[in-house]
Parts: sequence; structure tokens; C-alpha cells
Amino acid sequence: MGYYLVPPVYRPPSEAHSLILQVTLGCSHNACSFCVAYKGKKFRVKTWPEIEADIEAAKKYYPNATRIFLADGNAMVADTGLLLKVLEKVHRDFPYLERIGIYARASDFLEKTPEDLKKLSEAGIGLVYYGLESGSDRILKMIHKGETVSQMIEGGHKAMEAGLPLSITFIIGLGGPELSEEHAKETAAAASAINPAYLSALTMFIPEGSFMDRKLKRGEFKLLTPEQTLRELKILLENILLENCVFRSNHASNYLPLKGVLNRDRDKMLAMIDKALANPRLLRPEFLRGL
Ligand code: SF4
Repeated sequence: MGYYLVPPVYRPPSEAHSLILQVTLGCSHNACSFCVAYKGKKFRVKTWPEIEADIEAAKKYYPNATRIFLADGNAMVADTGLLLKVLEKVHRDFPYLERIGIYARASDFLEKTPEDLKKLSEAGIGLVYYGLESGSDRILKMIHKGETVSQMIEGGHKAMEAGLPLSITFIIGLGGPELSEEHAKETAAAASAINPAYLSALTMFIPEGSFMDRKLKRGEFKLLTPEQTLRELKILLENILLENCVFRSNHASNYLPLKGVLNRDRDKMLAMIDKALANPRLLRPEFLRGL
């Protein structure tokens, strides 16, 4: 059988050139109100024979793969023993492999022991993508994230202590105009408390048919204007305290692409925000925004 992925398939932008292997299908939570990614996909962890067959097929097509991304949603939820088997086999079968990435939820880290997480780190997981979304419990509840800020921080610390580097995302505009300041300040506080290796901003983009889309149409939720998104990001950056964290807002959903190391480059990024506020022509036009 050939190399085959069960659609739909999602991966972080920085895994665009990675070989994708599905350890799970869908997301074990599948309830966030802004997300339709896996709505029609029933969650399950694939069996070892299925994954083994996928790796055998993939290595014929991509024998020189240097990066592998373990999909779908939160593949970290899979049993540690299964993940270790996968990691061992990909290292054996892909001799040029340099990095393995994976998505995780806080509960995935909290349910594993520190020893399990250490084994996964030593077996080669090199980057974990972790959706914080917001540092405000009020907003996390509103979007049905199913996890609290303290769980996110605890899970993040547990992973990092085991040697797993984190790439955290948050969503500008997730609380709407009303909760914008709370979202900015509390997200800055939560990100600072975790102090990940990477931090990325996405901007709220409501998919058609999502729970949030229905709220928007009923007038129960409002999107930020482009200017408000910049002001929210500005407050967030003003309140952040990070050490050597690579920050990016270059995802297609954002109005202003920024890149730098926090906190070192914070003032430069704040100056760029001020420049864009004074000259909105610097912003990405609406028709070029996407997920
Ligand atoms: S945890 Fe991620 S993939 Fe799952 S529903 Fe929420 S945003 Fe979507």
C-alpha cells in the first residue's frame, strides 16, 4: 500500500516541509468553539500495525526526510509505549532525521509521568506545539477549551522540565473587544510563566459553521478591527517577560508580521506596531488573510 493520510490533515506552518505521520486521527477534545478542524473526524489512536505500515510506505517516498510531524490533533495523547515505538522506528528508518514535532494539550502532559515525558524527549521529540489560546480563564471557558490556565502552565512546566521544547500559540481577538485588555494582559502573564522556546500569535479567524460563527451571526460575539488587534498585541508585548523566546506573528491570519526574540527585541516590535497604527497601509489586506 502507498503512503496515505486520512484527510483532513493539519500541521503547524513551520512543519510545511515535514513528512507527516498520523499517530492519531482527529482531536481527543474536538470541542473548541472557534475550531472546525476535525469536526467530521471521529477521534482514535491508530494501532501499531497501522502506524508501522504507514512508516514502511512513507520511507519509500521520502527516504531522506529530515523532519517528521506526528499528527493529528493532539498525538501526544497516545500511550507513551506506542509513541516510543514510533520514535524508535522513525529514527531507524529515516537516517537523515533531525527533528520530530507533535501537537499536545495540557492534559496530555498532566496524564503522563515525568519519567514518560523524559523518555519521549530522549527518544527524539524535538518540538511540541501547544495551543494556549488565552491566559484568561474566562475566555478559555467561553471557547470551551476544556483546560484552565493553571493546567496549561503546569503542563507546560512539566514538559519543559522533561526536556521537551514548547512552541506556544495564542489567538489575538479571542475575547472580542470587551475582553481585549484582559486577554492581552493575562495571556502575557501565562506565556511569561511558561517561558517557552517559541511563541506565536494567530489572529481570530472564524470558520464558517463553527460555534463561534453562529455566535457572531447572532451578534453575541464581535471581531476586533485590524487596529484593535494591533492595540491588543501591543498591550500583550508591553506586559510580557520572556527569556530568549522566538516570537512570530507571521501566520497568514495576522495583519502585521513580526519576528524577533523576546524580550530582547520587544521595543523594536512595539515601534513597528506604532508605525502600522499610524499607517494602516502596512497591514495585510483582508483578502490575503487566511488560516
Ligand atoms: S484542541 Fe486544538 S484541534 Fe482540538 S478542538 Fe481545540 S483547537 Fe481544535
